[in-house]
Amino acid sequence: MLIRLKDVTKVYRMGVERIHALDGLTLDVTQNEYVAVMGPSGSGKSTLMNVIGCLDRPTSGSYELGGRPTTDMGAAALARVRNERIGFVFQSYELLPRFNALKNVELPLIYSKTAWWARRRLCHQVLERVGLSDRVKHRPNQLSGGEKQRVAIARALINNPAILLADEPTGNLDSRTSQEILGLFDQLHQEGQTIVIVTHEASVAVHARRVIRMRDGRVYSDLPIEEDPISQMQTAPEPPAPGGQGTEGPRRSQSRAQEEKSS
Ligand code: ADP
Ligand code: MG
Repeated sequence: MLIRLKDVTKVYRMGVERIHALDGLTLDVTQNEYVAVMGPSGSGKSTLMNVIGCLDRPTSGSYELGGRPTTDMGAAALARVRNERIGFVFQSYELLPRFNALKNVELPLIYSKTAWWARRRLCHQVLERVGLSDRVKHRPNQLSGGEKQRVAIARALINNPAILLADEPTGNLDSRTSQEILGLFDQLHQEGQTIVIVTHEASVAVHARRVIRMRDGRVYSDLPIEEDPISQMQTAPEPPAPGGQGTEGPRRSQSRAQEEKSS
């Protein structure tokens, strides 16, 4: 099991008030899953991502990453796990404005012992993977929103992370650019990348294979995409053409084409 959360709570103190951002959450994620986390604002989605990403510790409960308990780790060990095993993508990109795309992508390698030329080669490779070979020297203010998010994804991938965590990664993008970024996630998932993505939007969640719904710091629904109500909404078949039999023709010829291909 890649991610194993058991009875996790996260309590924030605000003066005398205590906010239960996570309230007894249990969740397993295996390697190569593509999971969408949905839920209303304030339901604990970002807190969950921060715990999974080792940016934050649970108040109680246990978290095992790749079979290793993280709860007893010291700050340095936790930072190393985060750097080596987690790739994080945020809604607001979080790029350093004075650094060009290449330098931004290189940042997580700061602790690595890799030679500078090998680091450079790695950065070029990962920028090519996200389709940005021709934007290497551009600074964030010289890039579009979609390009900025691609740089952020490249940075997240540079250490070949066990998990890619994305907290509303398309929240600042128009719908066409969003679909391009989601196409990139689809490709990464096909290449074997484990992905957990937080989103409000059904059009984003349908790219995942599993949908987790949160409310009040807990999971209240956890279903394969085919069984989640949004999949019916999004992949509802086109209404039949007038004449009834109209839709049969192309479908039949399509299956025949598939038979021909497989024979
Ligand atoms: P979501 O991402 O689903 O909108 P969050 O995980 O950001 O929800 O927040 C869950 C709850 O915890 C909210 O009530 C929020 O106000 C509270 N919260 C989140 N972070 C902090 C913090 N650093 N300090 C105090 N309260 C927080
Ligand atoms: Mg959030």
